[in-house]
Amino acid sequence: MEFRDLRKQYQALKPEIDEALLSCAASGGFIMGPTVAEIESQLAEYVGVSHCVTCANGTDALALALDVWQIGEGDAVFVPDFTFIASAEVVVAKGATPVFVEVDPRTFNIDPDALERRIAKVKAEGRLRPRVVVAVDLFGQPADYDRIIPIVESNGLLLLEDGAQGFGGAIRGRRACSFGHIATTSFFPAKPLGCYGDGGAIFTDNADWAARARSLSLHGRGNSKYEHVAIGCNSRLDTIQAAVLKVKLKAFKDHELNDVNRVANLYNELFDGVVETPYVPEGFLSSWAQYTIKFHTVEIRDRVKADLAAKSIPSMIYYPLPMHLQPVFAQQPHDEGLSRGWGRIKVGLSIPINPYLTDAEASLVVNAIKESLTNN
Ligand SMILES: *Cc1c(COP(=O)(O)O)cnc(C)c1O
Repeated sequence: MEFRDLRKQYQALKPEIDEALLSCAASGGFIMGPTVAEIESQLAEYVGVSHCVTCANGTDALALALDVWQIGEGDAVFVPDFTFIASAEVVVAKGATPVFVEVDPRTFNIDPDALERRIAKVKAEGRLRPRVVVAVDLFGQPADYDRIIPIVESNGLLLLEDGAQGFGGAIRGRRACSFGHIATTSFFPAKPLGCYGDGGAIFTDNADWAARARSLSLHGRGNSKYEHVAIGCNSRLDTIQAAVLKVKLKAFKDHELNDVNRVANLYNELFDGVVETPYVPEGFLSSWAQYTIKFHTVEIRDRVKADLAAKSIPSMIYYPLPMHLQPVFAQQPHDEGLSRGWGRIKVGLSIPINPYLTDAEASLVVNAIKESLTNN
């Protein structure tokens, strides 16, 4: 069994994918071009925003957003304590200070009450200028934007939605990557919408920010190719990846998002009364980048993981360390509350999920976990 079955997906989409790859090769056009423009407009339309600017990966997308807003030294950027490193890494890379915020252990997403407290504290201390809230749509589920957006607005901050894992999720029909003033996503192969290598995008309704992000991604390009108005970088989505994404976005819209939710619903039923299953609030839709269950203790979780491995069932610990315990952030400001919250989220285990997982495979996983719990 595979964790995220990209080979099965390829077999399902093979004629269209092969055609996309070969026609890109035959065209001789590998950088930018109409295919990139087409996927950008399709992505923007799907998400429900005016502008999509693709780039080389989801980390660059975050960095570009911070550069568009000229975030740097002396700026506080609020980041959930539990996320993939990129959400916080880019903040430090720009010279700004990440202020880590507890996540809600039920959703694994940033806790709005803790966010409010942390913003007030940074303001009261007066050492840093609060600028940006990074909200991550972890494991495929949108963060609690009903609460986050008013907090961001009343404090005069900017909202950066890290939708690397959240593409396809929604709150009452409004899609992920449309909640932030700028939102980003990643097309890393294992994400809900993945390409065949690295890729990323930013989304915004603000035309000036989109234009600036585009310019920065093309070496700070001005009105013509060799006129440069800013220090930028080289961050483009390869044409071949755009071609793959056009095929995959169609499958994602046509059936994959539904199929992965069918698998999640089956897991929810089969796990009833066995383990703590993911909490999806009323009105929220997850795109299930991960399906993460919780055990009573880390020891039980680790034994189950080992028993699954013995049966060749892959499982993953996302993530073994929160931001405030990462060695690289040892010098960043920490708050005691972070350690308290961590105790309730570190018992998670992510199990195989993807649109192509069969009911039989899901039952196999659940039975193996039940058996492990009984034997232990
Ligand atoms: C994967 C991921 C990123 C970075 O995306 P890349 O394309 O790998 O650079 C950023 N944030 C989160 C939450 C992610 O999961």
